[in-house]
Parts: sequence; C-alpha cells; structure tokens
Amino acid sequence: MPGLEEVMQTVDKSDTACLLEWAGSWLKEEKGHYIDGAWLHETDGDCGSGSLASTDPSTGRELCKIKQAGSRQIDAAVAAARKAFADRRWRSMPRRERSRLLMSIADLIREHSAELAALEALDNGKLYKEAINDDLPEAADVFDYYAGWTDKHYSECSPQDEGFINYTVHEPLGVCALIVPWNFPLLLAMWKIAPALAMGNTVVIKPSPFTSLSILRFFELLHEKIDIPDGVINLVTGGAETGRLLCEHMGVDKVSFTGSTATGKAVVASSASSNLKQVSLELGGKSPNIVFDDVPDLDFAIERSYAAMFSHKGEKCSEPTRLFVHKKIHDQFVGRLVDIAAGVKCGAQFDESADQGSQCNQEQFDKIMRYIEIGKSEGGRIVAGGERDTRGDNARGLFVRPTIFTDVDNRMTVSRDEIFGPVLVVIPFASDDEVIEMANDSIYGLAAGLWTRDVSRAHSVAGRLDAGMVFINRFGCYDFASPFGGFKQSGWGKEMAVHSLAAYTRLKSVWLKL
Ligand code: NAD
Repeated sequence: MPGLEEVMQTVDKSDTACLLEWAGSWLKEEKGHYIDGAWLHETDGDCGSGSLASTDPSTGRELCKIKQAGSRQIDAAVAAARKAFADRRWRSMPRRERSRLLMSIADLIREHSAELAALEALDNGKLYKEAINDDLPEAADVFDYYAGWTDKHYSECSPQDEGFINYTVHEPLGVCALIVPWNFPLLLAMWKIAPALAMGNTVVIKPSPFTSLSILRFFELLHEKIDIPDGVINLVTGGAETGRLLCEHMGVDKVSFTGSTATGKAVVASSASSNLKQVSLELGGKSPNIVFDDVPDLDFAIERSYAAMFSHKGEKCSEPTRLFVHKKIHDQFVGRLVDIAAGVKCGAQFDESADQGSQCNQEQFDKIMRYIEIGKSEGGRIVAGGERDTRGDNARGLFVRPTIFTDVDNRMTVSRDEIFGPVLVVIPFASDDEVIEMANDSIYGLAAGLWTRDVSRAHSVAGRLDAGMVFINRFGCYDFASPFGGFKQSGWGKEMAVHSLAAYTRLKSVWLKL
C-alpha cells in the first residue's frame, strides 16, 4: 500500500481528514507477524482464540484484528533471529555501514511520522498532537543517537606483567526478545531496538495487544524501504501468552522488558525456569514530587507539576503521582492545581482543542475508577475530578477527569499502589526528615522530584531519595545521554546512554601470552 506521504503529497501533516482516510484503508488490510524478512499470516497454532480485536478507546469501535502468535510462530521468529545472528551478516557488517543503516531508520520514522502518530493515537487514545510532537521525534532521534555508538564502544586493556596482554571485548548477546507496554508503544520499542541493533544483536519484538498498530506499520515501512538482512528484526503480535512463550524460549538470550512490576516478576520466573536468559526490567512507579516552602518559582512548579502528572492522561511510569507540599504553601498549591484541572477538556485523538485523551483500554479504565472508589472509601477527599467525563461524544469513550485527592496519608492504598491514570494524591509535610521518610516508603523507586532554592538542601535530599532518577526544580527531564530506570521494584538496569550498550552486550576477557 502506498505510504501516507504519497497519498498526501501536497497536504499538510495536520490534515486529519486525509490521515484518517488513509488509516481507514490501511486498517482494512490483514495484519500478520513479520518473520525472516516476510509477512506471515498463518493462524495455525496461534494462541487462544486466534486474533484479538484492536479498539479505538475514544469510541469503543473495533479498528482491526491482531494475530496472537503461538509457539509455532514464536519458534519461527526465534529461529530466524538465531540464523541471522549465526550467519554474522549483521554483527560483522562494517560498523559505519551499520550506523548509516540505523540513521536511515531514523529518517524513515521522520518521513512517516504523521501516519505512525495517527495509528498510535487511534489505538492508544492519546492525542495526535502529543504523539506527533512528543513521541515520534524521539522515536526517530534514538536511532541517530545509537547509530553514533557503533564505533565508540571502547574496550579496556588491563595493566599486566611483561609477557601478557589482557583486553576486553563487548560482544553482542545474541537473540533479544523485546517486550513493550501500551503507553508509548512505538517510542519504548525504539528505545530497545536501536541499541540492540547498534550492538549487533538480532531481535524479536512483541508489542502490547492494545497498541500494535504503529509498530506493525513501522515494520511494513522497514520491509519496503530499508535493506536490513532477513531475520535481523522480527515482530510477533499477541498478549500475555505470546509474551510468556517468548520469555521461556530456549533460543532467546536476553529479554528486555518494559511493563508492570507483576509481569516483570513473571518474566524473571520464565527466565529462571528456562535457560537463565539475561533480563532487564523497566517497571512501575509511584513517584514522589516534593515541594519545599522555598520553591524558587511557584508558578512554574505548579504548572510543571500538573503537566508532569497529567500529560499523556497520566499513563506514564515516572509521573509524580504522590505530591508532597510543605504545609505553609499546601492550600495555595492545591487550589491552583484544582483550577487547572477544572479547565481541562477531555477529547478524542484528533480534537485540536482537547487537553487530555481517552484512557487506553477498558481494563485500565475500570482499574482507575476502582481506585477512585477505594480512595473515597479510605477517607480521601476529591477536590478535582473523580469521575468519568461524558460530555458530548466522550460518553462513548474511556475518559477520566483529572482527579486530585487531598486528606490522604502515605499509608492509604491510593498512595501506595500504582494506578497508572490521571489520579494524584497530595500530602502535606512539615520537615525534611518527615517527607524523605514518606517519599521512600514505597515498594517503587523509579523517579522523584524536589523543588527548593537551597542548593545544599537540594543536594542532600537528592542523595537521600531512593529513586533511580531525581529531578530538581523541574519534574521530568529526559535525554538519550542520561540513564533512565528505577530502583527497588521499579526495575533492573538502565536504558539510554552508554548503559543500554551494556544491556545488549556481554563482556569477554581475552589473555594473550606473548
Ligand atoms: P503489562 O505488564 O501488563 O504488559 C507489558 C507487556 O508484557 C505487554 O506486551 C504484555 O502483553 C506482556 N506480557 C504480559 N504478561 C506477560 C508474561 N507473563 N510474560 C511476558 N510478557 C507478558 O503492562 P502494561 O499494562 O502494558 O503497561 C503498564 C505498565 O508498564 C505500568 O506498570 C507502567 O509503570 C509500566 N511502564 C514502565 C516503564 C518504565 O520505563 N519503567 C515505561 C512504561 C510503562
């Protein structure tokens, strides 16, 4: 099928009518798995009842059917990746050639960003403007970033006595299974694919069954436009059973997983019960955001605390869901957040005037509404939202008003469990020690924020917070050059920067007696 850029040669990328027309015909085509350089449509051996429905959560409309790979398809995908790893065409490709190829993938994503963003918005429910402005540019840039590493991942030569040389080599791991969730489907997949390929691995990727569309289209584009050896990059679609089969497969050397903490534990169990494949995990969070009474810029702190929490409809792992505000400024801070929340317009993906999209799926929507009830029953006071948004056409979709709880403490269920939706709890505090203790009292340790003009306090509190990422005076700063990932039950290892290279390589020590 022609790409969108051919269809809308003279049309602006924000022409949603054209985008939707293109998407409508694309969705009618049968979707398959991409294995060994070709599309596989067979369903023989598929998991469960065969295909799953992909749905637009803003309307409840079925978009298309997605296949669920079973052991037959997983075996084929892993065998293709094994063969491509063993024949060394990819890992032995001259480094600059591999680098250029990765950069051409970055360009491909940029050229096709409108159609990829449109598909991503359609099955996730996020606003098209968020997908095109936030997710797609980063999904492309990450390939440029790791393309630059193919000739910069140096080894060491250790100091030895005369007559010996000892050096290390970073070798690719082999076949990497990459499993991603539904909140940033394409972006999180690219965070894994780019470093895995840059280091010479071959991959099998499995997206979430709720949000497979943008990745399916990405693979079509790769197939049509990028000359990558067959079997180097494979795609299987499906749900939990497909993921489990992949994690238990004896032909997989590494699983890089992003998703919930509960599933992360199942991934570790699958690895332990099969071939002890390496596992890296990016899991859930319940991140604290601490506002001291000497916050340097109150207006910015309020605006940013709101955006970090509620953008992408609160479906972000590192969002600051526990807000601790010093009691001197608590009421003022909360009052201003409530004003912002009250003015928010929930709306469907292509509504330019909307501020917040639909939650991604029914299961997640029900979970959020359940937690709102739990919060109320435990004595929390709702000062904003707390209900479904049913204005106009929103009644057909899964819209939740931005919700703020006060009168909660850090022991309540809504302060402890990851809700993964637009639900914020606000807790007042009086002293540094008290707030640090509450902030660290969580099974999670993904991110934390603090706001103060006192550099000594900032430095000391950052050092005492049990979180993999600490943001001072701006919650949420991300860059490829900086490690991403959490402590405790928020994960194992880091993504991004040089740390992703370690996640996709093994270190060999070589001795030579002269
Ligand atoms: P999930 O754990 O339900 O599913 C994630 C992926 O795992 C999906 O592709 C799913 O099909 C697959 N899966 C399910 N069961 C499996 C099994 N037994 N073995 C292997 N794969 C299996 O998570 P979700 O609901 O899709 O996503 C939301 C979660 O992801 C939240 O907890 C969020 O915090 C987390 N998340 C973390 C990060 C991070 O970088 N730390 C980023 C985004 C999302």
